[in-house]
Amino acid sequence: MNLPAESDLTTGHIGLDWSHGFAALGPDFFTELRPTPLPSPHWVGASSDVAKLLGLDETWLRSDEALQAFTGNTLLPGSRPLASVYSGHQFGVWAGQLGDGRAILLGETAGGLEIQLKGAGRTPYSRGGDGRAVLRSSIREFLCSEAMHGLGIPTSRALCITGSPAHVRRETIETAAVVTRVAPSFVRFGHFEHFSANDQEPQLQALADYVIDRYYPECRSASTLAGNPYAALLQCVSERTAHLMGHWQAVGFCHGVMNTDNMSMLGLTIDYGPFQFLDAFVPGHVCNHSDTQGRYAYNRQPNVAYWNLFCLAQALLPLIEDQEIAKEALESYKTLFPAEFMSRMRSKLGLLQSRAEHAQLIDGILLLLAQNGVDYTIFWRRLSHAVQDSDFEPVRDLFADRAGFDQWLLSYSEQTALDDKALASNLMLKTNPKFVLRNHLGEQAIQAAKLGDFSELQTLQRLLEHPFDEHPGHDAYAAFPPDWASSIEISCSS
Ligand code: AMP
Ligand code: MG
Repeated sequence: MNLPAESDLTTGHIGLDWSHGFAALGPDFFTELRPTPLPSPHWVGASSDVAKLLGLDETWLRSDEALQAFTGNTLLPGSRPLASVYSGHQFGVWAGQLGDGRAILLGETAGGLEIQLKGAGRTPYSRGGDGRAVLRSSIREFLCSEAMHGLGIPTSRALCITGSPAHVRRETIETAAVVTRVAPSFVRFGHFEHFSANDQEPQLQALADYVIDRYYPECRSASTLAGNPYAALLQCVSERTAHLMGHWQAVGFCHGVMNTDNMSMLGLTIDYGPFQFLDAFVPGHVCNHSDTQGRYAYNRQPNVAYWNLFCLAQALLPLIEDQEIAKEALESYKTLFPAEFMSRMRSKLGLLQSRAEHAQLIDGILLLLAQNGVDYTIFWRRLSHAVQDSDFEPVRDLFADRAGFDQWLLSYSEQTALDDKALASNLMLKTNPKFVLRNHLGEQAIQAAKLGDFSELQTLQRLLEHPFDEHPGHDAYAAFPPDWASSIEISCSS
């Protein structure tokens, strides 16, 4: 193994300086290794926004040097690649040791962002896997990361995708791709579960101290949870997770694989696999074809998040030492999630103040949307325009049960009669996106990309980066899904 020397820890021309916070934890937490090269790489997509975030020179990002580096064929100067070890509960069952089986962390930049190559080859944690990711799932992860950011939802970001003609065997033979992902940290609940399950308390504490010092320094304040920094950490993560679930549920996002190893300690959306934005509002919708029990159905996500936080609490218990304090820290999720969800739903309805009757209004419309199988995104966008234009006919048209909708509209109109309509519709148009990454849109970009045409991916990326803008001429991307959309089957295979 040929690792870069400490003296290489600066770069110069490509504009990346490194700090390597996670690597400083030491070898119990990871294995240092190099990515495995892929033949004949080509560019598939890139995000200028993320390049800016990293301070990367955009001209350089188009260079062959960058192409080779982000495919894992050469090492960025100063990077210190590693795969981290974690464990976790998958589909409600303890799965034991997992780890970065195909993601390789290049390191952390001086600006505090970790850069990971997903699909960069086998690691000691690959188990039976090939360490690769296919083009199809890489395009979905790339687009969705940037779409979530455009929606204002906490997420890992995606700098670029490169592709290679190298074959990857899934249900059929596909081709390989590498997504370069970026986040302040990729530490998961599963990292803590790992050291806890193995009775490695010094490592558990080192990891907790690292996460607190880097990301939650407020946990050191004596006023928080009886001066117990580890309980305070659990509370902070519970709060971030509640905030995230509020976002997911309000926008109609299904993650698909909410295993504890896919839960971010920073409350970010990570590990995009068989995710889906709802088309019709079906509360029990299961987007992951491999999830035969429906554990991760849309309407179960908030409870699953709590279940996952409970696993984290158990993992942290040796540090928290007091079960009651741990429970109290967890409890914050139970009050914060409903509050977060309500607040987002109020914005979706353009309700400018908070009143007790709003709960009934929100429950009422969600029930009607479900009973009538109304398209979730289109409903909210049309409602936003209806408030702006004082014309509710286009919204009414979405419901088979017109009488039911009229009745709801009556109480909505009564409750908003005195509100400033311009202010309300303005809020609604900034809360209810016109464009979301529907499965069929992703599929169209994937099919074109497989034929070497990346223009569809670029168009979609542009729309999704600014999903609240009208983008004249692109209404087809905001239309009802075609019939074939419901037959798309997305599974864990990626
Ligand atoms: P996921 O459900 O994609 O989050 O993956 C669960 C675990 O399986 C993680 O430890 C991944 O790194 C690992 N994994 C998934 N796909 C592969 C693959 N093709 N090769 C190696 N490891 C993989
Ligand atoms: Mg994962």
